[in-house]
Amino acid sequence: MTDLQPDGDAAWEPTRARGWTERAFDLFDAGDIEVRDFWADGQLVTVVGSGPCPRCGHDHAFEHNPTGVGNVVFDVLGGAPVLVPTEVRRLDFPVECNCDQRHEGRPTSVPEGCGLTYRVKLEVAPP
Ligand SMILES: [Zn+2]
Ligand SMILES: [Zn+2]
Repeated sequence: MTDLQPDGDAAWEPTRARGWTERAFDLFDAGDIEVRDFWADGQLVTVVGSGPCPRCGHDHAFEHNPTGVGNVVFDVLGGAPVLVPTEVRRLDFPVECNCDQRHEGRPTSVPEGCGLTYRVKLEVAPP
């Protein structure tokens, strides 16, 4: 839990303050930020999420394409690698707010968002 509250009128500010990541956890827990994971052949392909930004409260969305595979085992006879599809994937990646609302002080070089970068940490399992 965190005392930080979203503010739609917040001025643009590049911040990675930890409290916002904690607030994002609450939003994930509550289901306010909805996350969906997509798998193919037992491998995690994409994680997408959308919902209110922890800092400004405006709608934002993200897409994360994880690198690497969960687990690989090799055929003992030297055949092609076989992907083991049962691995729970632990993810930890940064998300930048990309809301389409105005935030005072946002540089013209920055097209969107309130300046927040928070971290998404979650575990996903194959369907
Ligand atoms: Zn915003
Ligand atoms: Zn924001």
